[in-house]
Amino acid sequence: MKKTIFMSFIAFSFVSCGGASQPAEAPWIVDRFDDVKVIRYEVPGFEELPLEQKELIYYLAQAARCGRDILFDQNCAMNLPVRRTLETVYEHYEGDRGSAEWRAFEKYLKKVWFANGIHHHYSNDKFVPEFSEEYLLSLIETIPEEYFGDELNALRGAVCIAIFDPDMYPTRLNQTAGDDLLLTSSSNYYCGVSQSEAEKFYAAMAAADAGNPEPVSYGLNSQLVKDRKSGRIYERTWKVGGMYSAAIERIVEWLEKAQSVAAEPQKSTIASLIEYYRTGDLKKFDEYNIRWVKDTLSNVDFVNGFIEDYGDPLGRKASWEANVNFMDTEACRRTEIISENAQWFEDHSPVAPQYKKKKVKGVSAKVITVAMLGGDCYPATPIGINLPNADWIRKEYGSKSVTIDNITYAYDMAAHGNGFNEEFVLRADDRERMDRYGKLADDLHTDLHECLGHGSGQLAPGVAGGELKSYGSTLEETRADLFGLYYLGDPKMVELGLIPSLDVAWAGYAKYILNGMMTQLARIEPGKNVEEAHMRNRKLICEWCYERGKADNVIEWVEQDGKRYVVVNDFAKLRALFGEMLHEIQRIKSEGDYEAGRELVERYAVAVDPELHAQVRERYNALGIEPYGGFLNPDYRLVEQNGKIVDVEIIYPTDYVEQMMDYSKNYSFLPLKN
Ligand code: ZN
Repeated sequence: MKKTIFMSFIAFSFVSCGGASQPAEAPWIVDRFDDVKVIRYEVPGFEELPLEQKELIYYLAQAARCGRDILFDQNCAMNLPVRRTLETVYEHYEGDRGSAEWRAFEKYLKKVWFANGIHHHYSNDKFVPEFSEEYLLSLIETIPEEYFGDELNALRGAVCIAIFDPDMYPTRLNQTAGDDLLLTSSSNYYCGVSQSEAEKFYAAMAAADAGNPEPVSYGLNSQLVKDRKSGRIYERTWKVGGMYSAAIERIVEWLEKAQSVAAEPQKSTIASLIEYYRTGDLKKFDEYNIRWVKDTLSNVDFVNGFIEDYGDPLGRKASWEANVNFMDTEACRRTEIISENAQWFEDHSPVAPQYKKKKVKGVSAKVITVAMLGGDCYPATPIGINLPNADWIRKEYGSKSVTIDNITYAYDMAAHGNGFNEEFVLRADDRERMDRYGKLADDLHTDLHECLGHGSGQLAPGVAGGELKSYGSTLEETRADLFGLYYLGDPKMVELGLIPSLDVAWAGYAKYILNGMMTQLARIEPGKNVEEAHMRNRKLICEWCYERGKADNVIEWVEQDGKRYVVVNDFAKLRALFGEMLHEIQRIKSEGDYEAGRELVERYAVAVDPELHAQVRERYNALGIEPYGGFLNPDYRLVEQNGKIVDVEIIYPTDYVEQMMDYSKNYSFLPLKN
């Protein structure tokens, strides 16, 4: 069994807010470097929470920061030695901090922090430093050796190779069909194991468990290692007493404190997460997930663990991530309406009857306010979450789905007035609709994608769910996006009072097509193809609809004053195309039709038109907008009186470097090599 992927990175908000919003006192963007902007976010409503919930958030937020090193090491085995070398220099260097080379050094370090390693967080390519190895060594020489320590001193050569040798660790995640995806990826999930060896290893595990209706997610929480001498292949489990123990122990300590202030049923949920971290037993993880998904009432909620498998070329091993949040009751009304009508949406979807769920179970949906981001959710974060990932748990118990409102709000504020729409949207009525309804269309599409899209549909008998292999995540995101797009333009949305008119959908459609066919290319380096699953899924949908709608001119390329624009001429027909495509994608998933899935992705989702690509990058770069965003966390402080906690204070830092150095000092528990 292989789990599918349920986390959305739709967050790439270009819309500016509709005129009424007030300019904030402090700037929303606190730092910018390379292709990245760092945005602060606010936590409205925190002050009004009861003390025990504030305290719970405080402890969970501590636990959320303790696994940061795990992710660094998962992303590449050299990440921790590189980061610590650079940080030691950054902290102790007393020479010229104004030179061009120093600024290049500082920028590189900022990028490593942002990406949790030496590879770009989105493209997976290794960063190219804009300073020389000689320069780095000259900085290091001025600093007393004891600041580095023996272990780090001994790794100096390897650190330099990791940073400067372009042939070493070139990509974190290679997905090129035909390559050995494990031996050519620099992530640390497999050690000395070839792709076929790993596939065999897990196929044997699955075979031994064949017929079990409740299969665990094999390999989710371990590194797979081949012993050099004996050739034996075995797992090193991430647990207390196992790999990454030093960090996991700290996570557990904070979870225990959280447990002490939590109320039932959350108290038991946290207890079972602790048990899983202690044993590494994936059955316990499932038990925890079942408790977690059933608890839809606790105001404070959290994610903490090895959850998403985007970083593993085989889609099996999960990166560590964390998120602490509480409910945004007002905004929740929107997703409640969607949830209450889940069965109607399933029944009316354009999917073949045999692939519809007869009964849609437990679709819960919340709008949340995030209080802390950690691991693979920090600083770059998804704006929607749908968990757990195990198919059988989703089927039996449903899933919990959230959209994160204070993050999308911060994105929006940061994008306000950046000139994007003026540059890329040809028609004034599209621009107006986007200005007016862009945020609502985005939010609703995310809700539909997360609350209904991923949870919809069912597999044909005998299909286990892993058949689509490396195309699985792209096709799964495609399916969820199509479900959202199709219903965004349904009159039912107006009837339910979710949108004032279908103009909201047309704003969303125009923006989606623009992004999928054009503007998302701004985030891809020249000469590269589209690799990331969500980007592929958007391109797949748009290009497919473009081709299918060509006879009716549904989507059209327009050239004006030497610039290319993409416009939607017929929104209703476009919606019909979304429906047709959803029908086919659901069929592919339900039947596990690998060949058809591969064909679609390879044909529509991968290759980039170099001329268009160059133009988009040029126009985009001229606007000076960084294509990626990430977030600065707030801090929390316990307020004590006579040894008793009387309040938890929230503090909003504004300095990215300070926060990163603080985390590296106070939340770094792992040895250099793990
Ligand atoms: Zn998704």
